[in-house]
Amino acid sequence: MLHFRLLGTAAGGGFPQWNCACDKCASSRAEPEKVSPRMQLQAAVWNSSDAIFLLNASPDLRFQIEANPELRPRTNLGNRNTPIQGIVLTTADLDQILGLLLLREFQPLTLYATALIRRVLEANSFFRMLERVPNQLSWVEIQAGVPFALGTSDIVCTPFAMPGELPVYAREFASGKPGQASLGLLLEGDGMRIAYTPVVPAITDSLRTIYSRCEAIFVDGTFWSDEELSKTHARMPTAQAIGHVPMSGKDGTIALLSDVPALQRVFVHLNNTNPVLDPRSGAYNAVVEAGWKIAQDGWELGQ
Ligand SMILES: [Zn+2]
Repeated sequence: MLHFRLLGTAAGGGFPQWNCACDKCASSRAEPEKVSPRMQLQAAVWNSSDAIFLLNASPDLRFQIEANPELRPRTNLGNRNTPIQGIVLTTADLDQILGLLLLREFQPLTLYATALIRRVLEANSFFRMLERVPNQLSWVEIQAGVPFALGTSDIVCTPFAMPGELPVYAREFASGKPGQASLGLLLEGDGMRIAYTPVVPAITDSLRTIYSRCEAIFVDGTFWSDEELSKTHARMPTAQAIGHVPMSGKDGTIALLSDVPALQRVFVHLNNTNPVLDPRSGAYNAVVEAGWKIAQDGWELGQ
């Protein structure tokens, strides 16, 4: 059986964010039972409990592993072991790769990434800690449109190109052709098809076609509205301008994907400015009424 679990659901910074006193962050501190705190986005997929794969690696990863018993080391396999076989990278964003630095300790791992993302990481001396001994890190270079099996599992992963540039810290690297800097993932196993697209700068026809073939889709839920950032922070750009289709509005995800038949439509990568974080909000109710779910930390597909 294919397991797909969300270990964290917030955008970069988490929820509440350390330097944010907005009403939502304040509510999640004062009434965590009503407005759930969230760790930064992290997903894991497996169909055998001894071969678990992470989709990216969040800065909260150590807590996320401990919070999910399936990901902890086994007490009957010696002092040093992990069921985590590998990590698939879809981006070089710090919120989605910093967790790699927590996975050193000489543990052999497989890292699936595009040639460009590999170059960005290998240019940074921190990441050499993952390659201190032979066979510690095995790189597998992946390409948009080329399916591959995840390790020893029979889960097939097909990356697909998403629009988007490298993050600001890595702008010295040329992004090259589309699909090098930012990927979506199509995961197939045990008769299930899942699309994982935490950052969606535009709903293209090809993306809609992929979503239409899936039983479950995980979609960019960073912002509720296009002007959301500018409401809480002066002189901030719109959601669209920084590469996120908002949930609401006639050009929003809910409207543009209303005809996608996926049984499970789930918003992930929720920014601390997003009103859907409060289940008492009108925005939250509108999302649920439209047949979408707001992802929760620890939520697993099929449950
Ligand atoms: Zn906040």
